[in-house]
Amino acid sequence: MPTSSFNVAPTAVPCPVVESLDAILPEEPLLMMGAGPVPIPAAVAKANTIVINHLGATMVKVISQVKTMARYVFQTHSKWVLGVAGPGSAAMEMAISNLAWEGTRVLSIKNGFFSGRMAEMGRRVGAQVSVLEVADRSVAGLEQIADAIRRERPEIVTIVQGETSNTVWNYQLKDIAALAKAAGALVIVDAVCTLSTMPLAMDAWGIDAVITGGQKGLSSIPGVSLIAFSDAAWERVKGRTAPNAHWCLDASLAENFWHNAGYHYTAPVSGVLALHEALRLVCAETLEKRFARHLKCSVALQEGVTALGLQLYAPKECRLNSVVGIEVPPGLSPGDVCAHISRQHQVEISGSFGLPIVRIGQMGEQCREHNLFRTVHALGRTMVDLGVKVDLPAGVAALERGLSGGK
Ligand SMILES: *Cc1c(COP(=O)(O)O)cnc(C)c1O
Repeated sequence: MPTSSFNVAPTAVPCPVVESLDAILPEEPLLMMGAGPVPIPAAVAKANTIVINHLGATMVKVISQVKTMARYVFQTHSKWVLGVAGPGSAAMEMAISNLAWEGTRVLSIKNGFFSGRMAEMGRRVGAQVSVLEVADRSVAGLEQIADAIRRERPEIVTIVQGETSNTVWNYQLKDIAALAKAAGALVIVDAVCTLSTMPLAMDAWGIDAVITGGQKGLSSIPGVSLIAFSDAAWERVKGRTAPNAHWCLDASLAENFWHNAGYHYTAPVSGVLALHEALRLVCAETLEKRFARHLKCSVALQEGVTALGLQLYAPKECRLNSVVGIEVPPGLSPGDVCAHISRQHQVEISGSFGLPIVRIGQMGEQCREHNLFRTVHALGRTMVDLGVKVDLPAGVAALERGLSGGK
């Protein structure tokens, strides 16, 4: 008998020859200035290389601190903070699938691609979902939302704080949450893009579930996310009689790990450590300073882009600062711009699901002056290279004025 006969059978899969990452990745890492993932601080990157026991005293301490820091970032006193192994969408699915089931009346305020995802998830768990469709580049008025709540009598209202796809900001979130609450509905807020980049006060605004991802405002790695439930939301989770079809996302099972030092599934320990460091850096900076940094950088970026001679996509009153949408000049496609700026300038920016725009993120580590100068320069240069007339020096000058407070 040969030592192994399985690999000579005619059906065997031959051992492949592949390139190492060194051969695939660019020599100089690209500057990640798109709609996420974003650059991560060195402390986050270092934590992400470590593997520890997912159970035991060290992990218990890490988890406890992650929850404490997350409560600060969510601005909630609620005990019910949990981590999720998965993207922001997994946290979203945890919120929806635990709070809604067959026949639950859900009202989804849909501003675009991501807020529409919550409606889709509601339908998939059998909820009776009504969608308030909001025109592109605008937000629903309070009166319109109040009407929809009166008509649909929802048990749950879903809404996004910052609609990353068309760069619209639901700036009346606090008032919308109050309307829903007054009507007895629980409010689920998608803050994947915005958390820690702009104010959100879960308790003070009466929000019942907030979801976020790691790779955006928090500047951690993708793949480990956070969710917070209010006491009222947690009561609904624990009181449900309908079994949850999701096992990994069952909040009651996740409670074992996130609150009782027990086993649910093997937690993504490296990612949790990375998230710990990302949250610690948010706490070290403080939310007030972090919000101010994001605002200053994003407004300066918008001024720089405008001074180049390009148009911003969202109107000023509902323009999201966390991700800036820029109209692509006629004759070019978003793909042309993204490919050129990446190849020629090693800066990554994003297109947007069929919209005629490119998007530049202002989330976490993206809001650093040196990153902004490089990005505005690269964008202006890309336009010149692609035959669009822009005023590159004016763009860079406007950015500098914005960052230095006009001095
Ligand atoms: C990025 C994003 C999501 C999806 O997050 P994933 O981690 O890709 O699942 C959802 N909502 C908003 C507002 C986002 O910006």
